[in-house]
Amino acid sequence: MKIFNTVLETQNYIKSNSVGFVPTMGALHAGHISLIKQAKIDNELCVCSIFVNPTQFNNPEDLIKYPRTLEADIAKLEEAGCDVVFVPDVSEIYPTPVSLSINFGRLEEILEGAFRPGHFNGVGIVVSKLFHIVKPEKAYFGLKDLQQCAVINRLVKDLSFDLELVFCDTIREDDGLAMSSRNVRLDAEARKAAPFINSSLRKGKDLILSGTSPKETKRIITEDFAARAEFDLEYFEIVDFETLESIEMYDNERKTALVIAAHLGGVRLIDNVVF
Ligand code: AMP
Repeated sequence: MKIFNTVLETQNYIKSNSVGFVPTMGALHAGHISLIKQAKIDNELCVCSIFVNPTQFNNPEDLIKYPRTLEADIAKLEEAGCDVVFVPDVSEIYPTPVSLSINFGRLEEILEGAFRPGHFNGVGIVVSKLFHIVKPEKAYFGLKDLQQCAVINRLVKDLSFDLELVFCDTIREDDGLAMSSRNVRLDAEARKAAPFINSSLRKGKDLILSGTSPKETKRIITEDFAARAEFDLEYFEIVDFETLESIEMYDNERKTALVIAAHLGGVRLIDNVVF
């Protein structure tokens, strides 16, 4: 596996037309590795980037506390058969300050957009830069970050990036907790409580499928969270999978998603279920 820190080295090495690209912020877990494995299956060359992108952190403390485990990450990528890992410094990606900003319209106003102002602009800028650097034929993203998938989809369509997006299922711990780099920041007590997020999503899905209205389902799940003092629920919504707008009635002809964000033990966790 080749490890490069500069754009020049990376571009000089990548000559294949069949590149599968997995952008990450490191602190890799089995969720990231599932994307690497899929990219490896689909393409001649699998390229991963590890870059903790400062411009997508709306909370400075979150950026400082973001786990950094480069040595272990490299060992995991090597084992998964990744061909190239690009690990740039901030100055390599941002040699000059960015003055352009991207507004994703409604996606900026709802769910993550509403709670993390500026976040998707940062994601859009860095992913655009990485797409230009790596020039992948296919790029892989996790459905765990459902709204990020919608944002990247818009980016690729609106700016005519010549690549195919592949969205992959969420990988979970045995107790249902969605794998996340932030999970290592949960203390033992919070870690024990954390699967409640996924069990609430499954309960919400069962309620919807058994005919409970979205409004009533939201009331029940919100009340469940209110009874658990260790959680601070930011949002729980029943949304249309395509638009991510809240729905008033479930339609089994359309894909629906239940989306959640909650704080637990000082860590912000998100998860979703799609059906
Ligand atoms: P991150 O390093 O958190 O920016 O994530 C890099 C990529 O891995 C993103 O496309 C995420 O959606 C994806 N990812 C993160 N967690 C998971 C998971 N549990 N299952 C599948 N993909 C994931």
